[in-house]
Amino acid sequence: MFWLNADLPTRIWKLHREDCIYCKPEETQSKGLGRMKSYGGWFSFETVKEAYEFYKSQDERYVWQPCKVCRPDKI
Ligand SMILES: [Zn+2]
Repeated sequence: MFWLNADLPTRIWKLHREDCIYCKPEETQSKGLGRMKSYGGWFSFETVKEAYEFYKSQDERYVWQPCKVCRPDKI
């Protein structure tokens, strides 16, 4: 499983493996879990391809960034 951290203030959409130390999906006041809030949200996917397709369906100014620690793009 993979988690996409969609961050609206920075426009960076960072993808993690679920066991990454930087993968902390949780609902906060400004970030949603499985839904968008004012600062974005965390979304889970079974495959990298599904996550990327979700990213591509959004605003084209967002930046796709696989995490450099867990390297979800190196499977
Ligand atoms: Zn990561």
